[in-house]
Parts: sequence; structure tokens; C-alpha cells
Amino acid sequence: MNHDTFLNLRHIRKEFGGFTALQDINLDIRKGEFVCFLGPSGCGKTTLLRIIAGLEVQTAGEVHQGGRDISRLPPAMRDYGIVFQSYALFPNLSVADNVAYGLVNRKTPKADIKKRVSELVKLVGLPGSESKYPSQLSGGQQQRIALARALATSPGLLLLDEPLSALDALERVRLRQEIRALQQKLGVTTIMVTHDQEEALSVADRIVVMNDGAIEQVGTPMEIYREPASPFVADFVGKVNVLPAHVSGGELRFGALRLPCDGGDRDVKVYLRPEDVLARPIADGDAHVFDATIEKIEFLGSFCHVHVASPAFNSHKLTVYLSLNFLSEQSLQIGSTLKLKLLPERIKVF
Ligand code: ATP
Repeated sequence: MNHDTFLNLRHIRKEFGGFTALQDINLDIRKGEFVCFLGPSGCGKTTLLRIIAGLEVQTAGEVHQGGRDISRLPPAMRDYGIVFQSYALFPNLSVADNVAYGLVNRKTPKADIKKRVSELVKLVGLPGSESKYPSQLSGGQQQRIALARALATSPGLLLLDEPLSALDALERVRLRQEIRALQQKLGVTTIMVTHDQEEALSVADRIVVMNDGAIEQVGTPMEIYREPASPFVADFVGKVNVLPAHVSGGELRFGALRLPCDGGDRDVKVYLRPEDVLARPIADGDAHVFDATIEKIEFLGSFCHVHVASPAFNSHKLTVYLSLNFLSEQSLQIGSTLKLKLLPERIKVF
């Protein structure tokens, strides 16, 4: 455990009947960090968040927060605010009463509550909404109020369980930026569960990638994207081309390409991001250049997703992202041949 660790998970295990949902989870989260639990449906991310909240009891292991073992504390005795996926506001209470909920429970004086509620609705961008009812608010507005309610008691920890997944695409992007800005302003340690890799990459200080009840990798968004620790992470986060290759005699033999590579003879898979193949600039004599035939083009404005096949890779198909800055309209036609260059230092081999 680091000295600046705020939340510390030790050997957390969770079983439901005979089914193991989490196996030996160990994790340190620093004060003020924004951490995303990212993974496919069923990987255990919500269960882990609920254990931190005390809404689920772990089968084994400990949760420490602020240097204290809180493993056995009931939810009400823990120091966190939580926002769920579905707008879990009380429908029969006004915005003011929803936001004030935790403060009333703590027997805060009435005048202080009023002032705090007005501060909080302003903080989440809905000043003057105190007398409205949840049914009068949009989904995004309801989540903003749920966020205000979670922050009302100034908790040490903010837990967000897929808070954006019920919103439409535009609102989702807007609110995730607002949540990040708010989190940075308040400096509150935050954990958000999401299955949306773009969401995690865009807001998190660190991402915890989970798969099948275990942690696959913990790292900054850039580390997770650029240095995936496993095929699962490379595949789950971002788009990637997976191509068969072979290692022998200290060399990676990947189509026409030869790169130094450790280890004995074996078949491997090469993982290559679509943006790590360039069409320009290519100079005479450049290494790692190959011809590829365009099979499909998705025009996306400033750039294209281009699907190509190349004899250099036994006609395996590859998706590349090409910027229109460098390409003429004639060169971007189905059936035409492009010269492409690989960035070999970006290749991952598993
Ligand atoms: P999702 O995004 O679909 O919610 P998740 O990664 O959050 O997925 P969890 O909800 O944590 O996954 O569930 C992990 C596994 O544990 C799943 O296989 C789920 O079916 C199982 N599980 C969760 N809660 C219970 C429960 N109360 N009883 C039995 N099994 C459960």
C-alpha cells in the first residue's frame, strides 16, 4: 500500500452460491483520483463497487478507506455518495428534498440545508430547480440532481454505477465532461463503473480493466491503450487489427516484415491499431512499406476508415484510419492500390 492510498482493496473475493463473481481483487486508489472500472457485462465491476459501498458483503478480503478497515461497516456508516444507472431519485420528493436527503438524516439545521441545497443545484448546473419534481426533469437533469444528492454531505468517496448509460449519446458526452470537471474542482476520490471504453478513456486518471471476475490491467488511459498487457485488453479497449505471425530464429515474421523478437519458435498474433498504419509521408527506401488494395471505405469527414487487403500479409484484411489531408480523391477508390507504412514500434505481439 502506498502512503497516499485512500482506498485499499485486499484479496477481495465474492461468491454467489457456487459461482465466483470476483477472485482475489487487490487495488490501491489514491486520494483525489478518478478511477474507472471497465469491462464487459458480467465481469464483476458492479459487484466490486457494491462491496466498496457495503451494499454487498464480500466472501473474503478487506476494504480499507482513509486508513480504516471498513469491511464490516453497514452502508450508512461509510463515507461515500453514490449515483446509480437508473435515476434513483425519490419521485414523490422535490429536487430540494431529494438533494437534502442525506443532510436531513444527519440532523443538519434547516437554514444550513437550504443554503447547501442551493449551492449544490448550482454546482450541477440546475440553479433554481429546487421546487421541481423528478418527473419534470429530463434524464440528464435527473442524473445531475442524483449527483448533487450524492455530493450533499461532502463524502470522501464518490461512487458512480454506470451513471450515463441510460442517456442519449450527446447528453452522455456532455454529462461525462461535467462530472469530470466537477470531480477535479472538488478533488473528490471517484470510482465510475462503465462498459464504455471511450467513456473510461476520456475521463479517468486510471482505468481498471476487468474480465471474468479478475483485474486484467490497471493503468492510465494512455498506458491501457498503448501498452495493453493482454490480448483481452488490446481487443476490448479501442479498435485493433489481429493478424497471424510467426516467431523463429529471434525474428518476428509478419507477412513481408521482419522484426527482432525474443523467445523460441512459435505462432503468435500481431496486434496493430488502425492509426499505426500510415499512407503519408512515405519516402523512397522507407522500411515496412507494403501495397494494399482498398476493399471498402467509410467516409467520416476529416478521415476515412479504409478496409484493405494486402498480398504482403497473405491477403489478410486490415482496417486503417487515413487522414484526408494527404490523400487525393482518386487514390481513395475501391479497387485502387495504396502504399502503406507500418509503425513497427507500435506493434504488440501476444
Ligand atoms: P453489468 O455491466 O452487466 O452489470 P458487471 O460487470 O457489473 O456487469 P456484475 O453485475 O458485477 O457484473 O455481476 C458479475 C457476475 O455475478 C455476473 O455473472 C452476475 O450474474 C453475478 N451476480 C451478480 N449479482 C448476483 C446475485 N445477487 N446473485 C447471483 N449472481 C449474481
